[in-house]
Order: sequence, then C-alpha cells, then structure tokens
Amino acid sequence: TRTDLGSTIRYWAEERPDAIAMDDGTERITYRQLDDMADRYARAFVASGLEPGNRIAWLGKNASLYFTLLIAASRAGLAMVPVGWRLAVPEVRYILSDTQAALLVCQPFSAETARAAAEGLDSLKTLLIDVEGDISGLRSLDAWAAAQGDAALPQVDPERGVLQLYTSGTTGHPKGAVLCNRNMFALRPIIEASDVDWYKVTAEDSMLVIMPVAHIAGSGVGTIAFYNGCRAVIRAEFTPDAVLDCVQDGVTHMFLVPTALQMVVNHPRAASTDWSKLKLVMYGAAPIPLELLRQCMHVMGAEFCQQYGMTETTGTFCALPPEDHDPEGNQRMRSAGKALPGVEIRIIDAAGNPVPNGTIGEIATRSPLNMTGYWRNEAKTRETVDGDGWLRTGDAAYMDDDGYVYIQDRVKDMIISGGENVYPAEVENAIFGHPDVLEVAVIGIPDEKWGEAVKAVVVAKPGHEIDPASVIAWARERIAPFKAPKSVDVIAEMPRNATGKILRRELRAPYWEGRD
Ligand code: ATP
Ligand code: MG
Repeated sequence: TRTDLGSTIRYWAEERPDAIAMDDGTERITYRQLDDMADRYARAFVASGLEPGNRIAWLGKNASLYFTLLIAASRAGLAMVPVGWRLAVPEVRYILSDTQAALLVCQPFSAETARAAAEGLDSLKTLLIDVEGDISGLRSLDAWAAAQGDAALPQVDPERGVLQLYTSGTTGHPKGAVLCNRNMFALRPIIEASDVDWYKVTAEDSMLVIMPVAHIAGSGVGTIAFYNGCRAVIRAEFTPDAVLDCVQDGVTHMFLVPTALQMVVNHPRAASTDWSKLKLVMYGAAPIPLELLRQCMHVMGAEFCQQYGMTETTGTFCALPPEDHDPEGNQRMRSAGKALPGVEIRIIDAAGNPVPNGTIGEIATRSPLNMTGYWRNEAKTRETVDGDGWLRTGDAAYMDDDGYVYIQDRVKDMIISGGENVYPAEVENAIFGHPDVLEVAVIGIPDEKWGEAVKAVVVAKPGHEIDPASVIAWARERIAPFKAPKSVDVIAEMPRNATGKILRRELRAPYWEGRD
C-alpha cells in the first residue's frame, strides 16, 4: 500500500494518525493533518484546471509546506519542481521556462525573485505566496486554494513524473531529471526486508531534513522519513548551529554532505553537544576525506552509512552499511559501498563493455530507481541510459570481488599527465591532512611537457600560512610522484554550488580559456 507518496501518507494517517509527520521549527503536523492538507491542495490543484503532467514550482527554503505540496502534487498527477532559492533571477527563469511550470509558490523572502523571474512567462498562470494575506501584492496560497472549490482526484499513474529535480550543475549546466511515482519508493520494501540493517530506522525515529529540498539529499531524505512513518525534522537551511540544536533535541537520523559534516564537527559547540540520541549519520553526494570520516565517527559516536547516488537515480543506489565502518584502518572505509538490494551495478569501459574486478572504468547502474529521463532532452537521455536500462553515472571506479565500489572521481575530471591517469580525489585525499590546509581541490592545467600538469588549489586554515613547497613535499610522501601536484595556488575561498560541492570547472576555467 505504500507505493507512492500519496498512499504512504494515507497509510500512516490510518496506522498512526497522531504521530508527528513533520516539525519544521514553526509548526508540528500529524500524519492525519498532513493527509487532510495534502488532499485539500490536491483537489484545489485539479479544480483550478491543472492537468495531469503539469508542473508546479516551489521557490523557497525547506519547509513543511513544500512536502505537503509534493504529496498533493502526487495525488493530483502533477510534478513538483523545487527551485534552488540561492539561484539568481535568470537561473530561476531558465527553470520556470524549461519546465513550463503553470504555478509557482514562493516565500516572502523570495517574492521579488519570483516576480522578476516570472515576468512575461506565458506558461506561468499562477504566482502565489505561502503566507496569509496580501504580502508584496501576491495572493496567498491558502486563499487561492479555498477559492478553487472541489474536484475528484485522478488515478495515480506510477510512471508519471512527480518530482523534477535539477542536477547540481557540478560538471556543467543543470539537467532536469524526471522521477516518477514508482521511482520514489521502488526499493524501500526490498531494503527494509534485506538481511543488512542499512538504516536502522523505525516509526519512532526522527530524521533531520536540512539539505536543500531542491537537491535529492533534501527531497529524498524527507520521503524516506515518510515511508517509515517517522518524524521529518525539517530545517529551513543548513547551519552547523541548527544541526547541533536538532541533535541536542534528540534527532535520531541525519543526512549531511561532507562539507556540512566538516563544519559541524569543527564547530566549537560540537564537543559539548549531547550526541547520545543520534543513531545514524548518512553522508554522501561528494567524496569524503577519510580523516574527516574518522573524526566524525569519533566525535558523534553514532553509526555511519555512506550514500552514493545521483539525482538521476532518485538518490542512493549504492551504500556502505554501518558494519563496514571500522575506523581502525579497514580498507572498506575507502569504499562507497555496494549495491542496495534490488540494484545492479557494473563497471564498464568506454565502449560499454564490463571490465574485470579491480579495473577502473565507469560505473553503470540499473534499477527501478533510474529516472524516466531528462526533461525535454531526448539526446542527453539516450546518451545516459541505454536501451537495456543501464544508466552511465559519469563516475570512475573499480569494484572488488565482494562487490564493493571504490570511486576514483568523475570520468570528466580525470587528469592525463605524462600518459598516466591521475584522479584528483586521490591527490586531494593525500593533501587533506596537511597541517595548514583547510580545503583542497586538484585540477589539471595545460602543460607543454606533460600534456596536463597536476595543480592543487588550497585554502588555508584560519591563522595559517601555506607554503606551496611544503604541500608538494607532503603529497610526495604519500602518493606517487606523477600524482603529486607540480604547482599550488592559494585562494581565500572555494567556489561551491548550493550542495556544497567544489566547482573544479571554475578553478580550471582561467587556465583553459580558449583551449577546450
Ligand atoms: P551535474 O550532473 O549537474 O554535473 P552532480 O553530478 O554533482 O551535477 P548530483 O546528481 O547532485 O549532481 O550528484 C551526483 C554525483 O555526486 C555523482 O555522480 C558522484 O559524482 C557524486 N557523489 C554522490 N555520492 C557520492 C559519494 N558517496 N562519494 C563520492 N561521490 C559521490
Ligand atoms: Mg551528475
């Protein structure tokens, strides 16, 4: 009965009507209330003339209302498009126009951006604000919904898109991945029934949703909380203080990207926080330096589960379960884990043929998690997913004999220096422990002699000075000379996207101008 968002909420509204489904710091909503509210919005959407397949957009931070609307969208046959609230007007406009969204809900802080981005867009029929009253001249969502009257809801189509997420834009222009109703919970029953206790989750647990909902790490974690009937503790945006407050208040599960973990664990309050209620830390979306993982395990004392996945796979399809987290030099701590039950993974060469275990190739995956395709981009979809349903991740890795995947880096970011392949992540890992280095990114730059030369771009720890020669020497003690950087740039701040991923392409750009 828990096959899509709508039926899942209905299930818990009957099983545990008074349990808290969502707590976003301003209000607490029970499963029964959530079921009623989602139903009301769904009927209003249909009554307003929105038709199955239409898109509705959310321009706001994480909020209970976002998830209520997502569930309503699922019941009304619509797809929800959460738009990153840090985006600039032209970027928001691009997404609104690409999706042809018919309705946009914004929050007071984003009203001006919403209005400017929507101007002159014929596809956008309705622009609403999430608060009561006539703020900034925009109509309130609730007043609008009440005025639409009632309508019957359509039959849920498992293959219909319900969540359209734009990829992080780490390697280029963000792509709109369409996730259908079936994608959202396809594997949950299989995972819950498997003999590995991957997530240690029960209906009594509470899950922190603090990564942005415009990313799968936000929207995906929220839906996992609903599947299990737990409490989604939703916080508007990531700050280390907000995480520490929620941990102190007893949140049992959280998902954080490595950058966020680093900020939390190094926060002065981390040492005095009561971590005892925290059961599981899920982390992923970018490679984690081993030293950072060890530090987090030590300070937080919880169990850890690495998540490897992408927007195009509805999030995690591969995970390193808690029992493989042994800080005492266990080789598996360097792995991104193994396929979740119900998922196939293989490593392929450029021609698409599987390579032997231990050989580096590109990770491909097949499972009911794979997106239905990129929105209005047939060519890109065909390039990414083959006729048999195998999706190319763009990530380079090898697999060991036990099925564990060791990610090297993005295929695109591989540096070919003097004929040798160098994966930036390995070099970054080697430099990460340097006493003066806070952050590091490694890129290839054009070089007469080597073709490409390895360069490290570093940010100093507060109050430290970085001597480039000592960074090079540090790396040479830990990795082969051809992998060690030939040069080092010291910068004040890393360019990042909203998910906290370092934008290597921005660091590369000035060196490659006019060359690639
Ligand atoms: P774009 O596709 O627009 O360039 P993106 O790939 O960063 O952006 P996402 O879908 O958010 O967009 O991220 C998926 C990618 O994140 C994966 O392909 C992989 O490179 C990286 N990733 C996710 N989880 C992990 C992990 N546990 N370890 C290492 N890398 C990871
Ligand atoms: Mg990607």
